Amino acid sequence: MTMISQIDELKKLLAPKVPELGLDEGTVENILSTASDFSEKELKPSALKWEEIGTHFWQIYDAKLRSGNGRVELTENEYRILEKYRCIDNAEAKGKRLVFPEYFEEAHRKLAGTGLTGLCIPEEYGGMGFPFSLYCPVIEILSGGDASFGVHLSIHGTASDLINRYGTVVLKERLLPAMASGKKLGCLVFTEPSGGSDLKAVSTTSEFTGNSCRINGTKFSITNGGYSDVHVVFTVDKEDYNLPFAQRKKYNTFVVEKGTEGFELLGIGNTMGWRPSPTSMLKFENCDVPVDNLLGEKGSGRMVLSTGLSAGRVSFGCAWSLGIADAAYRKAMERADKRVTFGEKIKNHPEIRKHLADMYRYLCIGREKYLHAAYLKDKNDPDFPFEATISKIFCSERAEDIVRTAYQMHGHFGYMEGSGMPVLFRNVMVATVGEGATEVLRDRVIAPYVGKGKYSRTGAIEYDRSFIDMNLGEETFRELSQALGDEVYPCYEILLSKATGKKIRVPATEIKHLTINWKLNGL
Ligand SMILES: Cc1cc2nc3c(=O)[nH]c(=O)nc-3n(C[C@H](O)[C@H](O)[C@H](O)COP(=O)(O)OP(=O)(O)OC[C@H]3O[C@@H](n4cnc5c(N)ncnc54)[C@H](O)[C@@H]3O)c2cc1C
Repeated sequence: MTMISQIDELKKLLAPKVPELGLDEGTVENILSTASDFSEKELKPSALKWEEIGTHFWQIYDAKLRSGNGRVELTENEYRILEKYRCIDNAEAKGKRLVFPEYFEEAHRKLAGTGLTGLCIPEEYGGMGFPFSLYCPVIEILSGGDASFGVHLSIHGTASDLINRYGTVVLKERLLPAMASGKKLGCLVFTEPSGGSDLKAVSTTSEFTGNSCRINGTKFSITNGGYSDVHVVFTVDKEDYNLPFAQRKKYNTFVVEKGTEGFELLGIGNTMGWRPSPTSMLKFENCDVPVDNLLGEKGSGRMVLSTGLSAGRVSFGCAWSLGIADAAYRKAMERADKRVTFGEKIKNHPEIRKHLADMYRYLCIGREKYLHAAYLKDKNDPDFPFEATISKIFCSERAEDIVRTAYQMHGHFGYMEGSGMPVLFRNVMVATVGEGATEVLRDRVIAPYVGKGKYSRTGAIEYDRSFIDMNLGEETFRELSQALGDEVYPCYEILLSKATGKKIRVPATEIKHLTINWKLNGL
């Protein structure tokens, strides 16, 4: 059977946008081939083994073995076994440490050597300065090799993008070159034990005290939390903490670096999938960070996080999940060509052909959707958050369908770890929850049209072209922004520049609530 390679599929879809994105076909070929070679050589051969071993937050022991002269370092697991068989003379606990499967961290170092860790970071900060539209296919390719690995690059990209967009020059100069070279890894920290969907309800606080800011709270289910060097952390401003959630306006998003006093990795979850990737619980206790670590203006942290979540919905929710789905589709195609039932290869049964056709068309449509969303991000188009949302819903759900169907086509073998299907199944399940649960995102999509709650206001304005094309003056825009609240803020900047050619910024904290009907009548 013939299958178009993943790279060729992606190149074909990217081709019409290549000139507009300031790329050329040679560059696209080069970057995608680098990712593909890496995936084939460094990830695929080890992925199952890494998944089986997983990453652990072990207590480390310094021990003297009966049979040896010197002392050795043991993980908790090794210690327990040797202890049981009385092989240890004495041991001393040395504190906990993340222990990765062999070669997993080395693969990270090798990835850094390819330059892909700095793919979208501007050249002035040591990166390659390529568009997001090229970055997402790279995530798809790596995730097909090993989803636990692919997610690291996806989250690293979101964190570095936020620092580049909203960080001070000092912060950018300090962190971005190391993030571009892969010496420092970034992650995104917003979910808390009490929930991740309702971001207004976070309870991790930030309190400004002179030149620093004090963070207190606990975060939960954070990919690479405590392992990454650079944590982009979402908090509510202490001044708004006691307000009812609906009335809160001031949120702050900070960079907290590994090793900062008061910042601690408490533990990692025993997860269903992506087991080499630590999913961490973090504690901030009187953790002081310099105000220079603030991303965006004081109080505008929700807008900063929303920008990151929109990007993550495409790189993780779409590209990452389709990477897993593509791997499943290819396994299904191979199986269909090998397995014989009722005297026929199963690829000749009409039901199986329908399965294969559905899988392939979902992949094609999903890729088109996410590449379109990525393109809108590269063009700073105000429709980007909306496109990111609908693409994420589609890709994550269809990716699950594809993996499930591929599993079904493997029969009993699909239930065996050795088939590689269970790991794809376990991994893909994260996509409909992470970076926004499907139900919450669906509500965002439809709310502007059914006139429900706050999204009917911001949604209708954000995505309705007729408003964007109106020739409005600066004052009207300022009032409009005030009327709509902080959610329109990233979009507002673009609207204003389109209308007047001039950008002004209104801190989200200054936004007052006018009623939207009054303002719309005014328009
Ligand atoms: C493996 C893994 C890695 C993760 N990595 C990160 C990370 O790096 N950083 C980070 O900050 N977070 C991370 N998360 C957390 C993730 O972002 C959250 O799980 C997600 O935002 C949903 O929040 P929640 O789990 O608290 O679900 P909840 O908010 O408790 O919601 C539970 C469920 O209720 C339903 N629901 C909630 N609200 C509504 C509504 N308004 N309408 C209809 N249905 C609704 C949805 O089905 C939802 O799934 C990770 C999660 C996992 C599983």
